[in-house]
Amino acid sequence: MFEQRLNRVQAEMTETGVDALLLSVGPDLPWLIGYQAMPLERLTMLVVTADGPAKLIIPAFEVPRVVERPEVFSLVGWGETEDPIALVAGLVKGAETVAIGDHTWSRFLVELQQSMPRTSWVGGRSVTGKLRAMKEPHEIDRLQAAASGVDRIAAALQAGDIPLIGRTEADVSAELGKRIRAEGHAIVNFAIVAAGENASSPHHHPGDRVIGPGEVVLCDFGGTTAEPEGEPGYCSDITRCVYTGEPPAEFREAYDALQDAQSKAVAAAVVGAPAGSVDKVARDRLAQSDLDQWFLHRLGHGIGVEAHEDPYLVAGNADPLVAGNAFSIEPGFYVADRWGARIEDIVISTDDGPRPLNNVSHDLAIVEA
Ligand code: ZN
Ligand code: ZN
Ligand code: ZN
Repeated sequence: MFEQRLNRVQAEMTETGVDALLLSVGPDLPWLIGYQAMPLERLTMLVVTADGPAKLIIPAFEVPRVVERPEVFSLVGWGETEDPIALVAGLVKGAETVAIGDHTWSRFLVELQQSMPRTSWVGGRSVTGKLRAMKEPHEIDRLQAAASGVDRIAAALQAGDIPLIGRTEADVSAELGKRIRAEGHAIVNFAIVAAGENASSPHHHPGDRVIGPGEVVLCDFGGTTAEPEGEPGYCSDITRCVYTGEPPAEFREAYDALQDAQSKAVAAAVVGAPAGSVDKVARDRLAQSDLDQWFLHRLGHGIGVEAHEDPYLVAGNADPLVAGNAFSIEPGFYVADRWGARIEDIVISTDDGPRPLNNVSHDLAIVEA
């Protein structure tokens, strides 16, 4: 698996004229070699050139952390008094164009640029973005397992098994976090719980507000799966809304339009469709119900080892969806100081059509507790 990824990366480098790829902290590295760099001031950096195994520059005493894969990379431990920047610069000497991972600390990039003044630099995403976006069957299995885990939590919310009325958003968020871990995730990436008027803020930070009867509760949560040592985890991300009691007709109508927009957008996410056109399908449907003015963000984002990655389903993105793309479809409406709603599924585009990974009910659940 990792060897094939390295081959694909090297082919992409040759095609795009990139002489070396440097990866440090961030999701590219675990995706490519199964190792996550420690986010510290001691440099960890994978040096990939156009052929042969890569080299992982790493503090010597962190070598025992690494699951070795000699067919993919060799280890170059550096001692406390050595200069790792000089080590990296020496390995890529003469490179005209170097791609560097998007999450690399700027201090390392600045030092590298100073020691390689004639090199031109591009973002690592220009090499890895498209490749990471095309999921392998094994990755789709991981994403499906992650999605099924959060589906079960959403089902518990809809069934009223997670009490809401009388609890604070933060308290419910903490319970979602516990359940995300219990469902096989190593990390909780977020657990947004937004009640009533707070649901009008798409990235609301759950706080002390107590959930009452007769309001919408928007829950958007996900994590990164626990995998065997040396393999990267995959992300889940789902949004469902429940109402504590019978919703007013106006909310019900808006929600029904949102649900229709979401399912139409899922159906439109076919192989070959420009990513931005899928966003337009949802936006046009919301416009029919005069809700498009309240749809404040893009339709969706890719997902994989990173919670947000390529492809982005946003107006202006003309890149066609390809088989194996994994992305969210998450339209919403957010009426300031009043209420809001969002419905989010993770979907794979396949040659047989869009395949949603989240299959828990999309209906507005009424909960009484
Ligand atoms: Zn978001
Ligand atoms: Zn989400
Ligand atoms: Zn999302």
